[in-house]
Amino acid sequence: MRDNKKKVFLKTFGCQMNVRDSEVICGLLERQGYQISDDEDKADIVIFNTCSVRQHAEDKVWSAIGRVKAKIIGIVGCMATNYRQAIFDKAPEVDFVVGTSDIAKIPLIIAEIEKHKDSFLAKKIYETDSDHREDEIYHTGFHLDKEHAFVVVSEGCENYCAYCVVPYVRGRLRSRPYSDILAEIKEDIDAGITKITLLGQNVNMYNYKEVNFIELLKLVNSVNGLKEFSFITTHPKDTTAKLFQAMNDADKLKKYLHLPVQSGSNRILKLMNRGYTREFYLDLVENYRKIVKNGTLTTDIIVGFPTETKEDFQDTYELVNNVGFDAAYIFKYSVRPHTQAASLSDDVDKKEKERRHSLILELQKRISLKKR
Ligand code: SF4
Repeated sequence: MRDNKKKVFLKTFGCQMNVRDSEVICGLLERQGYQISDDEDKADIVIFNTCSVRQHAEDKVWSAIGRVKAKIIGIVGCMATNYRQAIFDKAPEVDFVVGTSDIAKIPLIIAEIEKHKDSFLAKKIYETDSDHREDEIYHTGFHLDKEHAFVVVSEGCENYCAYCVVPYVRGRLRSRPYSDILAEIKEDIDAGITKITLLGQNVNMYNYKEVNFIELLKLVNSVNGLKEFSFITTHPKDTTAKLFQAMNDADKLKKYLHLPVQSGSNRILKLMNRGYTREFYLDLVENYRKIVKNGTLTTDIIVGFPTETKEDFQDTYELVNNVGFDAAYIFKYSVRPHTQAASLSDDVDKKEKERRHSLILELQKRISLKKR
């Protein structure tokens, strides 16, 4: 008997937040009788969960759309919130566009499009205006990994770093109720999950009623059946020695910290609106290493930010050399719409960005090798 369940292929671009969103979307669709497929060519519906953090990430999506054979195509995630219905002009084959806070509506939208697909009533749908999500979407129980789960603790961000599009595509910071986060973790453990990663654009800013991030770590650490957990991402300006002490005291917490520095130049950090100095960052690192024994430390670096001079770059290079990160993710600056930096001239040329990128990459490779 032919299985008449409609097959949905969902491709995820970008960060862990998008990976978790894709799981949520798959869980919601499975509940409505759709079958999640890993074969794009055989799928009836193809959904791209997109990322807008760099031009390169968007270019990948635009070229992927052209290759889709499926009957129904959907664009969701950060590009959907960024470009809204303009996506239909650039890619007329797209049927629906759904923003980061509207993902709960995807099953109904697909049903509506399916109803009229082959008739003169066929229409395109876009939903991008919600400012928050209902917490129940996190309880579909769909996970791509049977041992590990991502758990969102906060959505959005209000730091407005000058280069970053996240506040414009994921909205204002919203901390989830800790009772709901703990309920989700317990459901995951009942489903056999033993490892958890707490997710937020800036987890340090988590605060729900009287519970801040340090208290949340204590609550999660006390959950029975949980073997190990970690968290990502922190912002240096909201990071304190108290957090490091809490990390040390939490026996189930992986002693791992991802602390994006972005630049080693105070002038560039100011232009980036990062809210800390090189000296403040180096003090944090020293404290972290003093308090969290054998803790690993990784970071993000942007090279080629507008007006970055060779001297600014040298400051970044020396900082990476002095700190000795366990790993560093290095990116070339690319202009993002709506951001403060978009008004600055992108004056570091492509070749020079690549030269700076490979210099830091080579340096970090040598440091990581030495640490092995
Ligand atoms: S902290 Fe800055 S870089 Fe990180 S998501 Fe928020 S605005 Fe973007």
